[in-house]
Amino acid sequence: MAADQPTVLVVEDEPAQREVLRYNLEAEGFRVAAAGNGEEALVLLEEENPDVVVLDWMLPNLSGIEVCRQIKTRSDTRSLPVIMLSARSEEVDRIRGLDTGADDYVVKPYSLRELMARVKAQLRRARPSAAGLRLEFEDIVLDSETHRVTRDGQELKLGPTEFRLLSTFMEKPGRVWSREQLLDRVWGRDIYVDTRTVDVHIGRLRKALGAHGGNDPLRTVRGAGYALG
Ligand code: CA
Repeated sequence: MAADQPTVLVVEDEPAQREVLRYNLEAEGFRVAAAGNGEEALVLLEEENPDVVVLDWMLPNLSGIEVCRQIKTRSDTRSLPVIMLSARSEEVDRIRGLDTGADDYVVKPYSLRELMARVKAQLRRARPSAAGLRLEFEDIVLDSETHRVTRDGQELKLGPTEFRLLSTFMEKPGRVWSREQLLDRVWGRDIYVDTRTVDVHIGRLRKALGAHGGNDPLRTVRGAGYALG
């Protein structure tokens, strides 16, 4: 599993529909976490740190609307894109009216191709580097397609781990990442790596970024982790 493979959380109570979504999303290169109800969705939200949520409106007990509201009120998940699925267009109007904060709405029965396109559109917005785009922060430019990084126009030599670290930081400048979050994102959650390894690679990244001079753009936040800018 590639550590930087984007994760989609699918919340759908009908097993057949859930599996169709899983199959198609995996075929598009996503990692899939699937929940059959809202309570499970909230647990997976914590455990899987998804990049996009595809959320059915009609769920037993905790409804899709309530799950969406919880995602959008929590500070750590507020910017997580949510695509709501609903059975009828009138429902979509109602969900919109309820102002749940969902980022997009798809009416069932949906075209899988269209849903995949919408998932990718949300991902591009939320995680540009995973969608193969150019990221910029001050004088640093990172191209995730060509894997090139320049600073003030000069090319920097980064190892693969340092490259993934930098792209994680550049996706969300200012965000403080804990060592554990960086391990999940950069090394992948299936691999056991000591958190001190993160410090070692941060050190290498700092050195690479300063190779041609310039300030240290990485901030050590005591007791919390690291941030860019
Ligand atoms: Ca349902």
